Amino acid sequence: MLLPALREQVLDANLELVRRGLVLYTFGNVSGIDRSQGLVAIKPSGVPYDELTPARMVVSDLDGTIVESKLRPSSDLATHLEPYRCFPNIGGVAHTHSEFATAWAQAETPIPCFGTTHADYFHGPVPVTERLTAAEIAGDYELETGKAICRTFTELDPDSVPAVLVAGHAPFCWGPSAASAAHNAVTVEYVAKMACHTLLINAESRPLARELHDKHFLRKHGKNAYYGQVKTQ
Ligand SMILES: [Zn+2]
Repeated sequence: MLLPALREQVLDANLELVRRGLVLYTFGNVSGIDRSQGLVAIKPSGVPYDELTPARMVVSDLDGTIVESKLRPSSDLATHLEPYRCFPNIGGVAHTHSEFATAWAQAETPIPCFGTTHADYFHGPVPVTERLTAAEIAGDYELETGKAICRTFTELDPDSVPAVLVAGHAPFCWGPSAASAAHNAVTVEYVAKMACHTLLINAESRPLARELHDKHFLRKHGKNAYYGQVKTQ
């Protein structure tokens, strides 16, 4: 069996979405990539989470050709592959229809950074894609969704803002691994919920000051990060 460790990581990241209450039924999917082999492992389509095993993960190449599987891949495979092609540092992609983040996607409104919880993970608002055109929807819809994600980051750094809201659809998140992509999916739901509550309490709430936003993001990320423990390996 190809990529046993990656299959295991992708399975666990998919189950993490369930453990954190982010998915109903078979909604949601996580994938991970082995950059050295150019192969992606992703959840199969429509299989209940409690029936998932490492062997049931689907392995595809970056063009969407299935390399090893008895099952069909998640129908969102083409949407996952496009970020792997355009964001060279990412190692995992997670997609959910989690309640609050999806509400922001449906409102086609970026999630403002109202506090340091958001700033710890996202160096700026979580953006929203453009709507797909009728031709894009009628064409290769899942691939066009991926392209809309990549276009949203023409002027943004996907490593600093590891999530997007697909207009009228739901969030897609990513990170250096499948586990980090799932972690970011959990986090984007949490900040989406808090942003909603913040605006309910005060509709005039202001985004966090740039200085505090930078402070929190940069103490956890980048060359001068100092949050957490020193890595020994
Ligand atoms: Zn979806």
